[in-house]
Amino acid sequence: MTDSIPNISPPPELLDALQSARRPLLITHISPDGDAIGSLTALGYLLYRMGKDPILACQDKAPNAFNFLPFYDRIVQNVDDANADLVIALDSSDPSRLGDIYDEAQFADLPLLVIDHHITNVYFGDINWVEPACCATDELIFHLARVLNEPLDEALATALLTGIVTDTRGFRTSNVTPAVMHITGQLLDAGAPLAMITERTLDTRSMALIKLWARVLDTVELSDGVISAINAIQMRKDLGGLIRAEGLVSFILGAEEAKIAAVFTEMPEGKVECSFRALPGYDVSQIAFEMGGGGHPPAAGCTTDGDLPGVRRKIVALLQEEVRSKSR
Ligand code: AMP
Ligand code: MN
Ligand code: MN
Repeated sequence: MTDSIPNISPPPELLDALQSARRPLLITHISPDGDAIGSLTALGYLLYRMGKDPILACQDKAPNAFNFLPFYDRIVQNVDDANADLVIALDSSDPSRLGDIYDEAQFADLPLLVIDHHITNVYFGDINWVEPACCATDELIFHLARVLNEPLDEALATALLTGIVTDTRGFRTSNVTPAVMHITGQLLDAGAPLAMITERTLDTRSMALIKLWARVLDTVELSDGVISAINAIQMRKDLGGLIRAEGLVSFILGAEEAKIAAVFTEMPEGKVECSFRALPGYDVSQIAFEMGGGGHPPAAGCTTDGDLPGVRRKIVALLQEEVRSKSR
């Protein structure tokens, strides 16, 4: 089995830094998804098992759906008194993804490790381990455990499988290679509950989210291969502080005529969060990167200034140009 899994290894300096750390501070990205929380808890748990005293941090509260993960209850939203000796950024392509929690002045004297799989990563660490071919940051943490000769156990395997399942939307994306399936086999052997993870992280949603989907779906428009929808602040007024129409951008990409999908979410202070998905053969990461964001060719995002209709018009035009250029 192991023969079918390529030897993806971290840079030796990264291993040295991890081995010599006593109190590493792990930070994952804002608005965390399953790979953000999966890689945070997997690496935190692994380092704890190695006798270290890790701090697990995220600016935004981890969604309840992930409360089955090891160390979920230890994730903190404030690191003022961290007393760390190393900082590790996870699943984040640039420092802004770490949010307010990463205060460059506070951590200027500490080495920064970056562990990520985004093709748009800007290599902002002192040591960077970036593998764009990997389907999830959790896949890198699997390789790290293997290189460290750290055995899988049920808790570690569960955290590792959570990032793989969520970032691949249940093994549907084109970066699910035979190696990913072999890794998944090992995680199942170690006791990771695939059906439960899938059910909790992909198939369960709140009633409020279903209502928000209904409102956002009502705004859907399609032209020249680009399908888009808007999520205005007003539309989610009575939905208990819910912000994102989670999962909807992938759903609308399912329209037969669509090559690229976008959802634009109005935020306070004139900001708009943009979320993009593309069919294989199209690339939304480059447009997201040029707009100050990032991601992967089939899934990317950015946050930009402007009013909702204006941002939609401008970005849909860029996405239509991407469709045209690849359809020639
Ligand atoms: P989302 O549409 O929020 O699920 O994000 C899709 C992909 O784009 C994920 O890999 C995110 O990490 C990335 N992404 C989303 N928003 C941003 C952003 N503002 N900056 C950098 N990457 C982003
Ligand atoms: Mn992520
Ligand atoms: Mn990821």
